[in-house]
Amino acid sequence: MRPALAGLALLTGLGPINLQFVPAEHWALTDGAHAKALRTSEGGQWILINAEADIEDFELIVLHEATHLIAWDRYGEDIEEHGPEFQQICLQLITRKQNQYCRSHR
Ligand SMILES: [Zn+2]
Repeated sequence: MRPALAGLALLTGLGPINLQFVPAEHWALTDGAHAKALRTSEGGQWILINAEADIEDFELIVLHEATHLIAWDRYGEDIEEHGPEFQQICLQLITRKQNQYCRSHR
């Protein structure tokens, strides 16, 4: 795990977050997504990054996906994808380009 993700996992009590680059055609990357957060039934936490995407704000994308993992951990997976629970956490983690990374459909 990258140091920043290890720190985030520690601070949030989340446990390890796995970061993996995957091909653009990976099943989890729908609609040409640049990244996707996933939880497995075994409790694994993943952030998948589209290895073929031209990614400008890598750390902001990772934090956006980490926000999904934190929100699911706190509120369960039935919450609205980018709803109020997500945004409340996202606005604490991401301090620039918030309109792009905390309020959009990404
Ligand atoms: Zn999202």
